[in-house]
Amino acid sequence: MPMSPYPVVCYAAGCDAPAAYKIAAKWSDGTTDELKTYGLVCAACLAAQFAAACAKRTACRLAVGETLDAPGVYELSRGGRDRALIRRPDLEAQLCPS
Ligand SMILES: [Zn+2]
Repeated sequence: MPMSPYPVVCYAAGCDAPAAYKIAAKWSDGTTDELKTYGLVCAACLAAQFAAACAKRTACRLAVGETLDAPGVYELSRGGRDRALIRRPDLEAQLCPS
């Protein structure tokens, strides 16, 4: 049985499929920035979870000087770190047309 040290499971309630995508948005307060993670989801749950992330972002109140980019879809690479994530603007455009 192959070792999977950090099995990542879909974030959606009631779903335990392996996560394939990360939904995250870049946040900044003007001096530091970070990738704010909304959730890790499987392909089947991506559309619903991404729509929820978009709605959450719209409802999000920011302090003066803070910025929060629109949520993005990133492919989870096995064993990869944040900097190695591949962004999927094509999926974002399909799932959250603005
Ligand atoms: Zn799922």
